Amino acid sequence: MIKTLFDIELKDFKDCLERIAANASNIDDPQIAPVKEFQWLAECGALKIVLPGEPLDFNRPDTAALLGLLKRVGKANLSVGRIYEGHINALYLLHLYGTAIQKKAWYDAVLHEQAIFGVWSTQAANGITYESNAEQLMLHGAKTFCSGVSIVTHALITGNIDTPNRKGWQMMILDMSRIGPERVDRNSWETLGMKASGSFTTDFTGCPIMEQELLGLPGDYLGQPYFNSGAIRFAAVQFGGAEAILGHTMDYLSAMERTGDPFQKARLAAMLIDITTGELWLHQAGKNFDNWVNDSERSGELIAFANMTRTVIEEIGLRVMQASNQCVGARGLMSPSPLERLNRDLTFYLRQPAPDATRLAIADHFIKHQSEDAQSI
Ligand SMILES: Cc1cc2nc3c(=O)[nH]c(=O)nc-3n(C[C@H](O)[C@H](O)[C@H](O)COP(=O)(O)OP(=O)(O)OC[C@H]3O[C@@H](n4cnc5c(N)ncnc54)[C@H](O)[C@@H]3O)c2cc1C
Repeated sequence: MIKTLFDIELKDFKDCLERIAANASNIDDPQIAPVKEFQWLAECGALKIVLPGEPLDFNRPDTAALLGLLKRVGKANLSVGRIYEGHINALYLLHLYGTAIQKKAWYDAVLHEQAIFGVWSTQAANGITYESNAEQLMLHGAKTFCSGVSIVTHALITGNIDTPNRKGWQMMILDMSRIGPERVDRNSWETLGMKASGSFTTDFTGCPIMEQELLGLPGDYLGQPYFNSGAIRFAAVQFGGAEAILGHTMDYLSAMERTGDPFQKARLAAMLIDITTGELWLHQAGKNFDNWVNDSERSGELIAFANMTRTVIEEIGLRVMQASNQCVGARGLMSPSPLERLNRDLTFYLRQPAPDATRLAIADHFIKHQSEDAQSI
């Protein structure tokens, strides 16, 4: 395997990832939550890693390293990576928009109670609204795709608010102990892959909300460049899956003594080029994020680069699966080969929001700036 360009080391992290990878086939079931996996991640410090004073403290950003971390968790198990990415995303939104009191309370929950956060914004027609009467705010509606709902302790959810002080798309962080298990539709995640992410539809209707649970102002969730450029995080997790497929393909071919064959070599070369390309894109995306996120003049460029990165990673994932499948054939795609599950997981996880609109936005950015670019030699 190629050497990764951005590795961070936590004590026992490698061991933790090996345990997660070894257990992946045992939790390939929507009804089995990755409880042990998150216990192991907590024990090696990965849940708190972005908090103040920790190795990837958001106040001293090293996004390339963060992407490397996300990739490695995704490589061990894409479903665990999906839930973990939600946790990191929630902590980033808290870092950006939380008050000092909110940060203290929710950081403490991570530090002392092994809190796991999730970000659930996707919804169907019966999405979330905040209803208010004289006494209190109350939630109405449901979220779909609630990754990790069985283990997430604190859910960052979004919904439409319309009160005298607040109008628009509002974030809140809800203690999930207030949402009974009967609110989770456990039949709503019969999927091709990513079963262990247990991303069930969850109904929040009737849950009262306190003012201090509202995070930021209406519209902050969609604030740019953070919203669109955040796609590099899920791309990093997806990329971990592609890297795992390359590794298992190589193992299979070695075990079958087929690595000497020129056709197999040609496919391996194509996969390795793709994986190296993805590594370079992610590394640069991380660097650009840190250099440009606070520079309003570079926002468009940052978003365009993130859009290109997620698109490149999607295409790499698709190509790597195809080449791997051709390398290993039907027998290599039979369970218990990890390639059977990895293909299902990566195929499904690559379906992220608005892939077509993302490509249009890339072209629009280029069209808008082409006259400036054409001038420079
Ligand atoms: C494993 C997994 C976990 C997830 N976890 C979470 C989570 O924790 N929290 C969360 O908020 N979300 C989560 N999501 C949801 C995710 O963010 C996306 O919203 C979701 O994957 C998009 O679903 P879709 O592919 O069915 O979208 P669609 O929007 O239906 O897109 C499907 C295709 O149709 C195209 N298309 C879209 N709109 C139109 C249109 N109007 N006309 C024509 N074509 C159109 C798209 O470009 C795409 O090609 C998760 C998704 C997955 C796969």
